[in-house]
Amino acid sequence: MDRSDHFVVKILRYDGAEPTIEPHFESYKIRVIPGLTILTILLRIRDEIDGTLAFRSSCRSAVCGSCAMVINGKIDLSCRIQAASFGTNTIILEPLPNLHIIKDLVVDMTPFWNMYKKVRPYLIRKNLASDKELPQSDDERKKIDQYVNCILCASCYGACPVLARNPDYVGPAAFAKLERFVLDSRDERPVDFLENVNDDNGLWGCDMILRCIDACPKDVRPPDSIVGLRKHLLKYKAKRLFRKKGQE
Ligand code: SF4
Repeated sequence: MDRSDHFVVKILRYDGAEPTIEPHFESYKIRVIPGLTILTILLRIRDEIDGTLAFRSSCRSAVCGSCAMVINGKIDLSCRIQAASFGTNTIILEPLPNLHIIKDLVVDMTPFWNMYKKVRPYLIRKNLASDKELPQSDDERKKIDQYVNCILCASCYGACPVLARNPDYVGPAAFAKLERFVLDSRDERPVDFLENVNDDNGLWGCDMILRCIDACPKDVRPPDSIVGLRKHLLKYKAKRLFRKKGQE
């Protein structure tokens, strides 16, 4: 980092309510204080310099997933990144890609949540009336460990090159969540459930560029889930084919 005692923070500004004003960068100077995170900088700019600045945040502990954005060219959670970690005093902040900007760093998450809902991200049971406990062994829990860690921050969604050209693609986070439930020992969704994502907007759309792995702040690996789901789907298809052949 250079010896200046200020950070120069350049933030992409845009207001969907005033679309005639093009997206543009505005700069703010913030005094260097040890331990300053990007989120703290944003809070200081909004509270002390420019109350019109819009961004999302909540837990400040990398748990809620609401403050994902592009920080000096890399997607991350603003609450977990120290401003001094870049080796430069210039910090450039932009909203998550692949989602429309509502205002400044706030994006419209509707497409992300629509894809999430599409995979039915909850336990599906045949007998809903039963209130019997459903214990899991340690080994069964281990199978879903990495996917349970997903905080739905949409960093992977923003990093995905397939979504950049095809907004109908289901996307990495939804697949990570689907695999989390398909692998769950308590889930009883019908075996043909994966037919819902058996196309180029679904499981076969991923190009395995793997940017989602780099972007994920929780070490989830969405491509693992896509490979896993492809295998479940092909196994189900092969079984159905053999059964049909046996009947001929
Ligand atoms: Fe965020 Fe990782 Fe979940 Fe994607 S998989 S939504 S990057 S936590």
